[in-house]
Amino acid sequence: MRIDIQGQTLELVQGDITEQQVDAIVNAANSRLAGGGGVDGAIHRRGGPAIMEETRRRYPDGCPTGSAVISGAGNLPAKYVIHAVGPVWSGGHRGEDELLASAYRRSLELAVEHGCRSVALPALSTGAYRFPLDRAARIALRTTIEFLKQHRAPSLVRFVLFDEAAYGAFSAALEELTSPQT
Ligand code: ADP
Repeated sequence: MRIDIQGQTLELVQGDITEQQVDAIVNAANSRLAGGGGVDGAIHRRGGPAIMEETRRRYPDGCPTGSAVISGAGNLPAKYVIHAVGPVWSGGHRGEDELLASAYRRSLELAVEHGCRSVALPALSTGAYRFPLDRAARIALRTTIEFLKQHRAPSLVRFVLFDEAAYGAFSAALEELTSPQT
């Protein structure tokens, strides 16, 4: 599924983010940038040790929840990896929605600041961090659409959803957000 947002493309695909041929891919990191399972494990496995060496050196204090940091991409086809730290879901009363939105916003800002024209993002916080998928999808897409309207960049934002459930949730949310208002 693909739509135009004032000249920029917003795309949803089902697949593996480590295979994306884009300028930057976004990682679902933890605040210590310590490495983990899920997307993070896949990125470090395929990207090689250079990524972790760089984040240890440049960001020894890690990265706060709701923010992101950038590194090179080692052996991956992308130029950069943006390590975004989404919130752990704990019921919805601890600012999780805003922290998730801000992790996406900061990731897109870093991409634009580094001249990236194409960016691939995963469904942050929806795996080990247990953020409800439908709610996460609405926040991810609303935040991205607002960002694209405001900044007119990057040219391509692609959400790479790992399984059918995530792809379905993002497709439904995108239809809901872009259907004509009555
Ligand atoms: P978090 O700790 O932020 O929840 P996870 O990596 O556990 O991060 O999960 C985030 C989402 O990424 C989940 O929806 C999971 O299915 C998905 N995912 C796992 N591996 C990949 C991959 N290689 N490419 C894209 N998405 C992935």
